[in-house]
Amino acid sequence: MISMSRAINTVLENVKPISAVEVKLGSVFGMVLAEDVVSDIDMPPFNKSAMDGYAVVSSAVKKTPITLRVTASIAAGVVYKGSSFKEESLENNGANGDCVKIMTGAPVPEGMDAVVMLEDTECRPDGKVKLFKKIEAGQNICVRGEDVRKGEIVLRKGTRILGPEIAILATAGKDSVSVFKKPAVGIVSTGNEIVEPEASLEEGKIRNSNGPMLAGLAEALGCDVEYFGIAGDEEKILRKLILKGFKKDVMLLSGGVSMGDYDLVPEMLKKEGAELLFHGVLVKPGKPLLYAKKDGCSIFGIPGNPVSNFTSFNVFIKPAIYKMMGREDYNARFIDAFIEVDFINRSSRVHIIPSICSIVDGRCLVSPFRLNGSADINGCSRSNCFLIIDASVTGIKKGDRVKVLPMDA
Ligand code: AMP
Ligand code: MG
Repeated sequence: MISMSRAINTVLENVKPISAVEVKLGSVFGMVLAEDVVSDIDMPPFNKSAMDGYAVVSSAVKKTPITLRVTASIAAGVVYKGSSFKEESLENNGANGDCVKIMTGAPVPEGMDAVVMLEDTECRPDGKVKLFKKIEAGQNICVRGEDVRKGEIVLRKGTRILGPEIAILATAGKDSVSVFKKPAVGIVSTGNEIVEPEASLEEGKIRNSNGPMLAGLAEALGCDVEYFGIAGDEEKILRKLILKGFKKDVMLLSGGVSMGDYDLVPEMLKKEGAELLFHGVLVKPGKPLLYAKKDGCSIFGIPGNPVSNFTSFNVFIKPAIYKMMGREDYNARFIDAFIEVDFINRSSRVHIIPSICSIVDGRCLVSPFRLNGSADINGCSRSNCFLIIDASVTGIKKGDRVKVLPMDA
């Protein structure tokens, strides 16, 4: 029997990012970069108008209001080909000066250094424009390269690709990118009493809730999931499915890891050559959790009660999958919260309790669900975190500071 932190560390020490593949931009959401990405251009790529309005030479617009001749109108995507604008030429041409109408996103003409927004102007019947407000050099212009310089690293290896990262990759000219492969996960349910949800439920049988739950949880993390089916507590079927599972990066076995006569998983894994790294963790629920390795496959034997399955996946398996996916931020991040009820700890194990966290008046409050034991998955629905109570803590009073593991962390 080992501690929760030792179990987590053992798992993390034994997994590493799996190999990389080149994936098209349209399919990389949720995957993790296996390379540093360098921009092939300055961002923005040219001095770009941030507004619809009039581009001017700011030093020629010292006093306002001022009326200027409009020499062109520039749409986004179009480069102005007229002569460059210099202060002397403007002052010498007899008018008060020239400006060009410009749209958001259009390149600001050479020599112009500010854009007056349309709302601060008035178009006159003779085609000239009256500017009301003074303007400073640089105003309303996104300067070439101010966000990123050509050749700079824009995204680092280990970054998870979500919305902004996809936008950055596209801007940096990456149509495909090297990412870590999705971990291949095989899932086996054990138990002679377990039947699939679509089958008729005879007396004494239990519907397989863990199989679909584990599949959904692993898929949501970005794994390639294959559900192998129910092995019952039959040696022959279990052996066949375990051998199939060894070919995956991760095998999740639900049930069959406790002390009962029909808990065949530990012995079968050993018989088939897997190395057991631990069997038994000082947590509640989920004590019989097992972790083993066979070649490149990480095997988790998860106690069958649905709440144990759910908590074990989140606390022990999720960080391992994150690490395999190449994420740098795989370690669980705990937050502080204030408990809303008294809590007495009668066990010498770490409690992992599905709970609800909410922010009230700027304080993070946590309420544990009251469960009728670890088969009561009903109480876990809508939970958004786990309350973690260390083994050494005997009693907690309402309002005490406690440790919480957010579910999406
Ligand atoms: P075990 O870990 O095999 O001793 O199972 C512990 C409890 O979890 C038993 O009451 C099982 O019926 C239940 N159980 C096991 N597997 C599942 C499953 N896939 N779905 C729902 N309950 C399960
Ligand atoms: Mg069983």
